Amino acid sequence: MFETLSKAPQDKIFALMAEIAADDRPGKIDLGIGVYKDDEGNTPIMTAVRKAEERIVSSSKTKSYIGVAGNKGFAKAMVDLALDGAVPDDRVRAAQAPGGTGALWVLLTLLKRANPDATVWISDPSWPNHKPMAEQAGFKVEAYPYFDPDTRKVRFDQMLAKLDSLGRNDIVLLHGCCHNPTGANLNHDQWHKVIASLKRTGAFPLVDMAYQGFGDGLDEDAYGLRALAAEIDEFVCATSCSKNFGIYRERVGCAIVVGEDAAQADIANSQMLNLIRGAYSQPPDHGAEIVRVILEDAELRAEWKAELEAMRNRMISNRQALADAIRSRSNSTDFDFVAEHRGMFSLLGLKVETVDHLKAENAVYMLDDSRINVAGLADERIQRLADAIVGATR
Ligand code: PMP
Repeated sequence: MFETLSKAPQDKIFALMAEIAADDRPGKIDLGIGVYKDDEGNTPIMTAVRKAEERIVSSSKTKSYIGVAGNKGFAKAMVDLALDGAVPDDRVRAAQAPGGTGALWVLLTLLKRANPDATVWISDPSWPNHKPMAEQAGFKVEAYPYFDPDTRKVRFDQMLAKLDSLGRNDIVLLHGCCHNPTGANLNHDQWHKVIASLKRTGAFPLVDMAYQGFGDGLDEDAYGLRALAAEIDEFVCATSCSKNFGIYRERVGCAIVVGEDAAQADIANSQMLNLIRGAYSQPPDHGAEIVRVILEDAELRAEWKAELEAMRNRMISNRQALADAIRSRSNSTDFDFVAEHRGMFSLLGLKVETVDHLKAENAVYMLDDSRINVAGLADERIQRLADAIVGATR
């Protein structure tokens, strides 16, 4: 059977992890994989998560099946966290999914059923899994202009011009906040222009919200999504709890569908449940139950928000410290953009040769496209990284 196949390419991020593990130079700097890290380089379990788990372990009474849509309390809490009432409840349906990736898969598969001939438009560049996922769902995939490697800002005029040329057979995948890999995001005014364009053309929005709370705050990061929800009758959104609850391996996400009216939302929901049933039947409960317990309990919710806020502020101060350290060494403002970007990543705009040089000479590891994880930094590492970057780009 398998003689018909050839080896599939290895995912670049996992290949980089293996390369970092094999490097035994002391003081290597790992800016690769997209997980939050504290000053010691650990990815700790949040205390609110630990407490919720303890409650679950001591009070749960069954491990019986939970149903195709998963944990209903979780889904409701996730809709509220993302949309905060921006759409009347009767037009919103949601299903728990295995991670943000699982939520994207559910939604792409649903959209394929609804419009098999559509083209999915992703940002240039985008999270490396967007294209293969949309292709695996059977869609043609194209890219709209997004990041300008010279200014390290969004090429907004070009982005908008492309969006303006789309129509009802197009699906536009937008990053809700904290763009991965670039760190460059739409401002409020730009969001409103994108929304007006989608409204005008009838192109269908798919919002990927994997980092709510990692940029400027839980509500601020949902600004674009909520503004879109107020203007556009039909859209879908994939959310993830991997980053903002730090429960990466529990695989917790939510597929949110908004219909023009309750009847359309019901039809879309029935198709969504049908496709889940035919794929993995039901999602795992444990991680979703952790999130439900936290979001429904005022005390745990406040504790979680405070922890998330501390993580967010640490990433922002790392950004500022790196920008300052580079500026003080190079006497130029070339890397000030690092402090302006938001989320866990910044795309530095370095050449592949420079990325290779940093690996070989300085044991500094980032993705080939020069994406760095700013949470992977700490004081002393920031200074060494600044030395290395200034040395390699001089
Ligand atoms: N979308 C984006 C943009 C991401 O960066 C990620 C995580 N790397 C995901 C979705 C999926 O996250 P997960 O499946 O781990 O919840």
